Amino acid sequence: MGVPCPGCDREYDVALFAFGRTIHCTCGRRVGLEVRVRGVDGGSPPRFFADAMLGRLARWLRILGFDVAYEAHIADGELARRAVEQGRQILTRDRALPLEWRVSGVYVVAAERPFEQLREVVEAFDLGGAARPFTRCNRCNAPLVAASRGEVDGQVPARVLARHDRFQRCTHCDRVYWAGSHIQRMEGLLEKLLSERASGPGETTARELER
Ligand SMILES: [Zn+2]
Ligand SMILES: [Zn+2]
Repeated sequence: MGVPCPGCDREYDVALFAFGRTIHCTCGRRVGLEVRVRGVDGGSPPRFFADAMLGRLARWLRILGFDVAYEAHIADGELARRAVEQGRQILTRDRALPLEWRVSGVYVVAAERPFEQLREVVEAFDLGGAARPFTRCNRCNAPLVAASRGEVDGQVPARVLARHDRFQRCTHCDRVYWAGSHIQRMEGLLEKLLSERASGPGETTARELER
């Protein structure tokens, strides 16, 4: 089966367009075939694949409980392939990516600072109601499970063990989380973000999170 160039009708093998890849025809036009990614339209909540420039946004989305794949050094082609295979919405800062890779559900993030990016994505995908803060490891994206004091004995400082009785453990990397003061501060900021939607930027909030 051939895919015709929209400019000159020359036909190309469909295999050239795997995972949304596009090519330049000898006539100068770009030829492509859009890949529909399952799960990115109407799948709730959406799962994401953040590109290499969006590491901090990925961590913030994970803190809100969203499933966000991220790798610091990943080529566009590999990103597109995995997003298609795993049914993930691509988040990117690269305006050229949706031209070079025709995959449904590529979102180009306009904001530059991580907290503004978070605000933008929460609004664009209407994520407010689906957020489950502090249910996912922000380092490796795996779900957290409750752990008792006895289960984390030896893995957290003694003063933390003495002061807290509710802990969570990452099911992948074993990192232990507890409701320390930094979590309370983040909770406040995230609540503000989720409640103030579309009511304008909160400068103080943004600055605090950039630190
Ligand atoms: Zn052509
Ligand atoms: Zn983890």
